[in-house]
Amino acid sequence: MTLYTGSCHCGAVRFSFEADPIQKGIRCNCSMCARKGALMSAEPMPLEKLNIEAPEGALGLYQFGAKTAKHFFCNTCGIYPFHETARFAGHYRVNLGCVDGLDPLSLEVEIFDGKHLL
Ligand SMILES: [Zn+2]
Repeated sequence: MTLYTGSCHCGAVRFSFEADPIQKGIRCNCSMCARKGALMSAEPMPLEKLNIEAPEGALGLYQFGAKTAKHFFCNTCGIYPFHETARFAGHYRVNLGCVDGLDPLSLEVEIFDGKHLL
């Protein structure tokens, strides 16, 4: 297992988690992800495994449609650090672009057809 740490752009929101070495990410074509354009962690992670450090009021929440997914963003810099998935309640994916030492452009990309499947 590898310990990964990450943050939004301004550093107000930080997170860490342990996972097998990350070699791929997923991109989704739903109305939200198409606009966000982020490469997300492929394995949905239970909240217990994601250590979130954010001062009170640092995280904004955006929801739409069925409002099952929780799309978080930093209230200061606007960056998306992680979200609770629509498909797996209580599970999160992180923005791999926020993870320290990881180059999202070097990772294998899996496409999820959220536009039609969510
Ligand atoms: Zn920020």
